[in-house]
Amino acid sequence: MFKKSVLDAPVDAGALTVGFDIGGTNIRAGLVSADGTIVARRAARTPHRETELTAAVTEIVADLRRDFAIDAVGVALAGFLDPECEVVRFAPHLPWRNDAPVKATLEAALELPVRLEHDANSAAWGEYTYGAARNAQTWVFFAVGTGIGATLMHRGEIYRGAFGTAPEFGHLTVVPDGRVCSCGKQGCLERYASGTALVDTAIEVAGRGGFEKCGLYRHVVDKRADGHEIMRAAREGDALGIATIGEFARWLGIGLSIVADVLDPELIVLGGGVSADADIFLGAACEEMASHVVGAGYRPLPRVLRAELGPDAGMIGVADLARHSARKGADGR
Ligand SMILES: [Zn+2]
Repeated sequence: MFKKSVLDAPVDAGALTVGFDIGGTNIRAGLVSADGTIVARRAARTPHRETELTAAVTEIVADLRRDFAIDAVGVALAGFLDPECEVVRFAPHLPWRNDAPVKATLEAALELPVRLEHDANSAAWGEYTYGAARNAQTWVFFAVGTGIGATLMHRGEIYRGAFGTAPEFGHLTVVPDGRVCSCGKQGCLERYASGTALVDTAIEVAGRGGFEKCGLYRHVVDKRADGHEIMRAAREGDALGIATIGEFARWLGIGLSIVADVLDPELIVLGGGVSADADIFLGAACEEMASHVVGAGYRPLPRVLRAELGPDAGMIGVADLARHSARKGADGR
C-alpha cells in the first residue's frame, strides 16, 4: 500500500508525523515528513460510533508504527473545537461531538502527543507552510467545497476568535429569506457560492427559460446534475452551464469582497474541491470582488490565488502542526 515515494523521498525518520483528515464519510491519513512530503497513506470509512472512530485511528497509527518511528499525530476534522483545540464541541457529521475530550482520549489510546485542529485551519496551515500562502502575513484561506470553510492567519498565527468559531463566512446572510441552509438559517453565502449551491443555481437559471436546447437542461430540471457535471458542461460550452457558473462567480466575488472589506488581507487563497475548476470562474469572481469592495478603485486589493496542495492540504497541515506541538511539549512548553 506504500507509494513508491517512500523509497524516493529523503526522509528523516525522526521527524515523521501522521496527519488525519476525518470527514463524515472517510478517514484519510498521511505519514508526513518535515518537508511536507506524504511518504505513506491510509484510508478507511468513518465509523458511526465514538469508540469505533477512536479504534480506527488507533489501528491506522499502529499499522504505520510497524514500519516507521512516529513523533506525533495530528487530527483535522470538520467541527467546532474549544479554543485550546482539546475538545470537540459540535461536529454534526462525526460521532465525536458534545464536548468529547478527543485530544485526551487519543493521547491515552496512542501514547503519542496529539494535535486536534479544524479542517479548514489545517489546510490553511498546510498552504502557509508549504503552499500558496508561504510568507503571507495577513491572509485568508477560503475553502469552497460542499460548503465554505475559512481561516484567517495573521503574522503566523491562526485567528480563532474568543470562543474558537471564527471566521464563518459560509453562514453570513447574503440573501434575507433566501435559500434554506443546513445550519438552520436562510440565505447563507454557502447556499449560493459552494459546489452544492451550483445545483440550485442551475435549476433557477434553467427556470428563467431559453436553455431548453442545452445538453445540461434535462439533467438539471430532473435534479440529476451535480456540481461536477455543471462545471464540465460550462467547460464544454453549454450555455446553461456557462450562465450557472457566471452566477456562481458573482456570488463568490461578493463573498470575497466581504472578506476584503472586513479583514483587508494581502492574500486570499481559494481552496476546497471547487478550486480545481478555478480557471473557469476565478477571473470573473475577482472582477466582482473588485467592483463590490468599499472604496473600489481607490484601494489595494488582495491577491487571489488558487491553493497548491489540493485535497492533501489538511493532512499535511495538521501533521506539521502536530510536529510543532510535539516539539513544544518536548521543550517543556
Ligand atoms: Zn448557513
